[in-house]
Amino acid sequence: MPKKLALHGGTPVISRSFPHYRSFGKEELKAAEKVIQTGVLSKYLGAWHEDFYGGPEVRSFEEDWSAFFQTKHAVAVNSATSGLVAAVGALGLEPGDEVIVSPWTMSATATAILFWNAIPVFADIESETFNLCPQSIEKNITSKTRAILVTDIFGHSADRDAINAIAKKHDLWVIEDASQSPGAKCKGQYVGTWGDIGIFSLNYHKHIHTGEGGVCVTNDPKLCDRMQLIRNHAEAVVGPKGTADLSNMLGMNFRMCEIEAAMGREQLQKLERLVQERIEVADHLSHRLRDLPGITVPTVKPDNTHVYYCYPMVMDPNVVRAARAKVVQALQAEGVSNVYNGYMNVHLLPMYQKKIAFGSKGFPWTSDFARKDISYAKGICPTAEVLHAETLLNFHVCVFQYTKQELDSVIEAFQKVWTNLEELK
Ligand SMILES: *Cc1c(COP(=O)(O)O)cnc(C)c1O
Repeated sequence: MPKKLALHGGTPVISRSFPHYRSFGKEELKAAEKVIQTGVLSKYLGAWHEDFYGGPEVRSFEEDWSAFFQTKHAVAVNSATSGLVAAVGALGLEPGDEVIVSPWTMSATATAILFWNAIPVFADIESETFNLCPQSIEKNITSKTRAILVTDIFGHSADRDAINAIAKKHDLWVIEDASQSPGAKCKGQYVGTWGDIGIFSLNYHKHIHTGEGGVCVTNDPKLCDRMQLIRNHAEAVVGPKGTADLSNMLGMNFRMCEIEAAMGREQLQKLERLVQERIEVADHLSHRLRDLPGITVPTVKPDNTHVYYCYPMVMDPNVVRAARAKVVQALQAEGVSNVYNGYMNVHLLPMYQKKIAFGSKGFPWTSDFARKDISYAKGICPTAEVLHAETLLNFHVCVFQYTKQELDSVIEAFQKVWTNLEELK
């Protein structure tokens, strides 16, 4: 006699909430305290001076970051959103230029393009890793395309070789949003370092964090210079620096504080261990969940590592024969609170559906500079849309901390729901 589902009044498998995932400890406390004792919480100067590049902690943090990720430069910023804006700005685009982007990312990835009055063009994703599909990228290239903004989604690299080959062939920039994949590798190389610029997030929800924060990496000194300028009010304050042209770069305040940088240095030292723990969680889940009929556990491509910001599963409705929403409800009722239906499709957000980003007259899509037949219609990214609407079951990994027993209880909850699928029809 199968146990009654919690959804239908039975006893939940998991009766209490798991402890929150924590990447912090006494090392960060000590680092923050040390900064507070100096009294210097931020040392940036909005003028041409050696402190134009920030205080000692920010600069040491950048050195640590570029040494770890093996890039020539790292630019610390106050969020990955700021980093994305600085990165797109560094390319020096024209209004109406097109940047190919994934519908499966955080909205900020595409917003960063609009910020410079460039146009996001959404290409479809692959069904295995959920990253931009190279064939779809190529289909969406026009004479106005200048860059590909790739997101390494959920913790797995996008197709480095295929995307870099397309970029080379069409003379395009590649920016990588690696916010969800710090420490993941593709053919021995850290994800976030195979494009012209890579962006990492240090927001509270990520593998490692500083509350808010981000880092941009590049090997190109010109791109680094432009990102540093955009970070700190460029056009207004560095006349004496002698930069040839300070136009088309809208200087902002994207500066990271000293406390965050000091804590970030400690967090970076923990990255490998924290990532390894996430991998162990995912491997344990995969080992057992792959036996459930109709469930495909996450794919890790040969020569890649997956760092599992999320643990994405695909559910085959023809095998499971129950609505996904019902399955998720049943799992949540059993106490698996961090499992969700699908993943947002950015192109279907109201801003894109109405094609209004600035004001009320359809700017920038209606400007003379933009191509007039840009489409965000439902159906342009069929793989992403079907996965969201029907088949993706997403377990968020960086939310809780689990012991082996707790993970076993998650697996038991899945098994219980699967034993009772008949009831969920
Ligand atoms: C979290 C995230 C961001 C935004 O990061 P912030 O540091 O919060 O600005 C951008 N892109 C992706 C893919 C993310 O997951």
